[in-house]
Amino acid sequence: MHYMPEAVPGPEASFDDMAYWRNCQKKKLTFQRCADCGTFRHPPGPFCSSCQSAKSEWVEAPGEGRLFSYTFVYHPAHPAVKERVPYNVSVIEFPDFGPVRLISNVIDATPGELEFGMKVHLVWGEAGNGQIIPLFEKA
Ligand SMILES: [Zn+2]
Repeated sequence: MHYMPEAVPGPEASFDDMAYWRNCQKKKLTFQRCADCGTFRHPPGPFCSSCQSAKSEWVEAPGEGRLFSYTFVYHPAHPAVKERVPYNVSVIEFPDFGPVRLISNVIDATPGELEFGMKVHLVWGEAGNGQIIPLFEKA
C-alpha cells in the first residue's frame, strides 16, 4: 500500500538511521538502545545522551504504542498531498522504551477521533520511494 502519493519523496537514510530504515524495510520497528547504560534514543544517533557511549544495539518495539500528541494538517504543504487533507501528524510514544517517541500518522483517524493517551497499533505503509514506513491505526 502506498500511503504517500508517488510524487512525495520518502525518507532517505543517513549513516545514523540506516539500520532503522533497513529494519523497517523488513517490517520490524526497532529503536536504538545504548549498549552500556540501556538508554533508548530516537531518532538514532552516534552517541548516548546519558553516558556518551558510542555502543548501541537495536531492540524491536511492540506493535502497540500510545498517542502522545497530534495535530491535523488542513493546508497541504506539498501539491501531492492536496487530496489527503485533513491528515494528522502524530507523536506515538512507547512507554516501556524510556519512553521513545516517533512521529508518524494515525491513518484511520479523522478530526475528532483522536485522544491523547489512546492506544494505537502499528501497521506498515510504503512511501513514494519504496521505503516501508511505520504507520498507526486506532487500537
Ligand atoms: Zn548510555
